[in-house]
Amino acid sequence: MIKFTVKVFKRVTSLLEGMAVTIKYFFSGPVTMQYPDKKWTLPERARGVVTLIIDKETGKHRCIACLACVRTCPNFSLAVEVKTDENKKRYPGKFTLELGKCMFCGLCVDSCPTKALMMNNEYELAVYTRKELTRSLLP
Ligand code: SF4
Ligand code: SF4
Repeated sequence: MIKFTVKVFKRVTSLLEGMAVTIKYFFSGPVTMQYPDKKWTLPERARGVVTLIIDKETGKHRCIACLACVRTCPNFSLAVEVKTDENKKRYPGKFTLELGKCMFCGLCVDSCPTKALMMNNEYELAVYTRKELTRSLLP
């Protein structure tokens, strides 16, 4: 009889413990978010898409078409067409990123001598065609 009572006591305790966990989560806030109406704030160092930093006031960038980023990229995702002005100063005529090849490593950003590149917070990158994955970084 004692054995039976101990067994029943253990079962009931176990049941109550389980119910306590369920009730605790029932009253805690939701962990999901109503995406895309609401969006998470990304961490400061999150790696989105490689982009040229454009000065908001002047509309200019700091790229000197040195090709360091192109050579550094392990996936050949970047392409820069080098042009020179009347003072023999280099500048990018075209600057494209093939997003389908990019692995978001950030090596291009680190290698840029003029700190012209950054990785933004863009993460909604779904497109319908491969062609759309190639984008110009120039304004
Ligand atoms: S993040 Fe990495 S893979 Fe993407 S373009 Fe830069 S160097 Fe290439
Ligand atoms: S490394 Fe910097 S300055 Fe050189 S081509 Fe790339 S973005 Fe331009």
